[in-house]
Amino acid sequence: MVVQDRKLIAGNFSEPGTSGLVGTPVPQTRARRADGGYRITGRKMFASMLEAADYCAVLARHDEATTPTAGTIFFVPRDAPGRRVEEVWDTLGMRATRSDSMVLDECWVPDDAVMVQTDDIVTFRRKAANWLWGSYTPVYLGIGAAAYDAIIEVVRERTPPGFAQPLAYHPDVRRHVAEMSIDLEAARLLVHHSAWVSDTEGTTPRTLAALYRAKYFVGEAVTRVTRTVMTLGGAHALFKTSPLERLFRDGAIAPVQFPPRDFCLAGLGLLELGLDPREVLPPLRSANPDAGPVMR
Ligand SMILES: Cc1cc2nc3c(=O)[nH]c(=O)nc-3n(C[C@H](O)[C@H](O)[C@H](O)COP(=O)(O)OP(=O)(O)OC[C@H]3O[C@@H](n4cnc5c(N)ncnc54)[C@H](O)[C@@H]3O)c2cc1C
Repeated sequence: MVVQDRKLIAGNFSEPGTSGLVGTPVPQTRARRADGGYRITGRKMFASMLEAADYCAVLARHDEATTPTAGTIFFVPRDAPGRRVEEVWDTLGMRATRSDSMVLDECWVPDDAVMVQTDDIVTFRRKAANWLWGSYTPVYLGIGAAAYDAIIEVVRERTPPGFAQPLAYHPDVRRHVAEMSIDLEAARLLVHHSAWVSDTEGTTPRTLAALYRAKYFVGEAVTRVTRTVMTLGGAHALFKTSPLERLFRDGAIAPVQFPPRDFCLAGLGLLELGLDPREVLPPLRSANPDAGPVMR
């Protein structure tokens, strides 16, 4: 579809109540069989590229589902009746993703709009981790790399009045550049390694661990790098017209983007210790203690 028909597809799992703290996220969005297809009703949130996409892959729970973690993913075309977009994406950073909200009100799609139907969406999500969220990690690495390239140019060119050399010659500037270079190179190698393990093994526990490591480290490194770049850029970097200002704001989103930094550490710790997630206590008191342990 993407390659042959040149269609752009957004993906929307998230809803206003979605949280990485919920082990088995069940979508509130519901789908029921009707009129030779399905009618979907619910409110989705954070749908990157929604404005530009031809289709949006939407996660809903089928009314006839029999297991607690069942999920169906529908391809909802942009002109589907009952689909509307709320333009709410007025955020600190990653503004260009235009991750607006989508409201589905008895939105009708035909039978062949079903992309995935499963009794266990948690397993599907885990197996698809390399593209479902692993693919964002290099986007944030790119923000760090762009900020680094931009500041190298600035410090090489900016010579303060009364001096014969640009800022690059200042020993503190050189040290900052060296630190950023180490952060970025380490982050890059972790990303490459996670891609290599994923390509050679599929989504094994080792791959998941590598993806968590890469996402965690990229988030931390890019936050550090974009802050240092902002400092080195000085007051000139503070202007809304400066690319450094935008890269600083985009970089600040890196540890928040799913999976957030603490989620990565929690998941990686379980994998490294070989623990059974079902044996791990819920991190917060459960609203429904009889429902059993929280699954990840
Ligand atoms: C730029 C951007 C683009 C996005 N695009 C899309 C998209 O296209 N499609 C889509 O479906 N969604 C998208 N999302 C939504 C995203 O994937 C999350 O579902 C959404 O951010 C909801 O999570 P939250 O950060 O609000 O809350 P939470 O997941 O509750 O996180 C809040 C904080 O709680 C803590 N936390 C959460 N889980 C754990 C854990 N397991 N262990 C320890 N601490 C934890 C962390 O400190 C975390 O930062 C996007 C988000 C952003 C920022």
